[in-house]
Parts: sequence; C-alpha cells; structure tokens
Amino acid sequence: MVTIKTEEEIELLRENNLLVSATLAEVGKHIAPGVTTLELDAIAEEFIRSHGAVPGFLGYGGFPNTLCISVNEQIVHGIPSSYALKEGDIVSVDCGTVMKGFYGDSAYTFAVGNVDPQVAKLLQVTKEALYKGVAQAKAGNRVGDIAAAVQGHAEANGFSVVRELVGHGLGRDMHEDPEVPNYGMRGRGPLLKEGMVICIEPMINLGRKHVVFEEDGWTVRTADRKPSAHFEFAVAIRKGGADVLTDFGIIEKAIS
Ligand code: MG
Ligand code: MG
Repeated sequence: MVTIKTEEEIELLRENNLLVSATLAEVGKHIAPGVTTLELDAIAEEFIRSHGAVPGFLGYGGFPNTLCISVNEQIVHGIPSSYALKEGDIVSVDCGTVMKGFYGDSAYTFAVGNVDPQVAKLLQVTKEALYKGVAQAKAGNRVGDIAAAVQGHAEANGFSVVRELVGHGLGRDMHEDPEVPNYGMRGRGPLLKEGMVICIEPMINLGRKHVVFEEDGWTVRTADRKPSAHFEFAVAIRKGGADVLTDFGIIEKAIS
C-alpha cells in the first residue's frame, strides 16, 4: 500500500535524511587508505546516536551494523569488517536512521584516493543517472519514467543496471510501496502522487548486470567481480518536481 505523507511527516523524513547526509559527510571525512570499514561504522553509529537518532539498519532483518559498506565489486548490503581500504578502492556507504517515528535512507559511493579513470566515470555516471531519475519524480509521472531515465543514462554510457535490487517508498517503515526499479519503460508502473516519499537508488555495474548473493546472507556483489556504484536519494513527490530530502552538498563539501 502506498502511503501519502502530510507536510509534517515530510519534514520529519527530511530531518532524518539530513541527519543521514551529515553522517555520510562525517564518514566521508574519514575515508582514506588504511581505515577499516568497521572503524567507519563506529564513527557513524556514534554520530547518529549523538544527534538523538537510532541507526536504522542495525538489527533491521538481523543486519549486524549501522552502515552497509560495499567495496569495489560489492554492490550493496556489505557488512563492515576489518578490511582496510586501499588507494583506488571505491566504497559505497548506505546509511539509515530512525528518529521521531520515521526513517532516513541514503547512500553515497566514495573514491579512496585516485581511482582508475573508468571507475571514476562509473561514479560520475551513476550519480548523473540518479539525478536524471529524480528529474522524473513528479506528480503525474509514473515510476517507469524514473526507471527509464536511470537505465537510459547508465546504458548510454556502456554500464549495466542491477535488476535484483530496487528503490522503495520511505516512511514509518524503511521499505514501503511502491518499488522503484532502476530499469523499465516510460509511462509504466505506479502513478506518482503528491506526498509520496520514495528512495531512488541506482546500482550500476561497470561490467555485466548479473549479481551473486554471498553466503554471509547479506552482501550482494557483481558476478563478474567488476566494480559497482550506488547513490541514493530520498525525495518527496510534488506537483512541480521532486523535493529532495537528502543533501549531497554537505557530503561533497566534506570530502573536497
Ligand atoms: Mg539505502
Ligand atoms: Mg534504500
């Protein structure tokens, strides 16, 4: 069931997603060769709790940590570990919060130092694909308009779109209806209505689209072990366009 949020609820969702953005900025400041993904997780948990919220992923479906941290060929749902980041890695950090009864959920893929030019292009194109999707997220359009925009941009640049994992509605639950795939056809799928809040989260692979679900029960990686990028915005649907609840500006300021 798709829920329509009141203005008050949208502001609570904005508060959560701005805290997620600030957390990702804090994590981003610490991303460097030699840092372990568990260290990043601890920084995020401390930051979220010190701002009066609770980590949204910790314990969700049994997930053991605050952040999903997915390095290189890992697409999403990576479990923080003693792995130390290396120059040239890319690291997708997905973060959730719960505060005042609502969830925040956003993700950003960071480069560790200098990365291969083709990998840098993957990051750039995935972020652009997110923005192209967001441009379609307005009342009167359909979910397929978002999906087709994301897929079109990724594939036009020679990359591929993960099929098994999709965006979603966001509210009192982290995963609400509708599903928001990153592939599909314009004009198809559920109608977007004013007051819906959705997460748009392209997962784009440098190589082929196929994925493997690892035996840890969480991590999803590319079948060909080529890198994958992931960027996620929470947006409220308005008549004139998307009201973006996530702020990449503070993340990019923190890492520049
Ligand atoms: Mg997420
Ligand atoms: Mg999400």
